[in-house]
Order: sequence, then C-alpha cells, then structure tokens
Amino acid sequence: MTTTENNSAPTVFSKIISKEIAAQILYEDDHCLAFRDIQPQAPCHFLMIPKKVIRSMNELTSQDQGLIGHMMLKIQDLTRALGIAESGYRIVINTNSFGGQSVYHLHFHVLGGRLLTWPPG
Ligand code: 5GP
Repeated sequence: MTTTENNSAPTVFSKIISKEIAAQILYEDDHCLAFRDIQPQAPCHFLMIPKKVIRSMNELTSQDQGLIGHMMLKIQDLTRALGIAESGYRIVINTNSFGGQSVYHLHFHVLGGRLLTWPPG
C-alpha cells in the first residue's frame, strides 16, 4: 500500500526502526536512527529519522525542539565520520506532495560525495 499524506498507516521507516526490515544502519540511539538510502542519489546518501512517529515537517511542535537539535548534531558527527563534512553536503526535508515526500515519517536526507547542483528539480 502506498503511504500518502492522508494515510496514517505505519510506514516502511517504522519497520526499519523495529528491525522488521533491514537497513544499513549508521547510527542509532533511543531517539533517532540513521541509515543509508536504498536508492542513493549521491555517493553518500543517508536518512536521519526520529524514532517518534512525526509524519512530516508540518507535524513538528515545540516539544520536538530538543529532538530536532539532537538529530542535527548527530548528522554533523556522521558527516565527519563519513568524510563528507569538508567537501560539503546537503540536508533535504521533502514535505508533502509538492515537496516530493514519499514516506510519511519525518526524515532528513543527507547527500554528499559529489557536487550538488542548484536549484533542485
Ligand atoms: P522522500 O521521497 O519521502 O523524501 O524520501 C524517502 C526516501 O526513502 C527515498 O529516498 C527512498 O529511496 C528511501 N526509502 C524508501 N524505502 C526504503 C527502504 O526500505 N529502505 C531504505 N534504506 N530507504 C528507503
């Protein structure tokens, strides 16, 4: 079943969190999980997700402030560990249909390892 913005069914990312579906996990703690994207769009492409189910940027609340800051700092650690911090990278949050969101569990794409063009398509 396709997950759309109007569908509250568990997403593939919930199954990655619960380990029902395997992923190449790069980092995990009680609050977040980072794993490689199954269809990488750059030599280094990983996703950082909260374990809490937040369906999109539109659902964030002030209660999530600490969580989002935590995830950002873990992304910073990972970009250093993966060797893309100095050359540079991009963090992308696709939101709803015009933003190109296909999985309705908040995720930060982190792309690096090649020159990224601008503007995005
Ligand atoms: P969105 O289009 O929602 O911004 O990004 C969803 C991302 O999740 C896509 O880049 C897609 O390749 C990735 N993805 C979807 N299903 C899986 C999966 O089962 N495993 C992994 N590792 N990535 C997935």
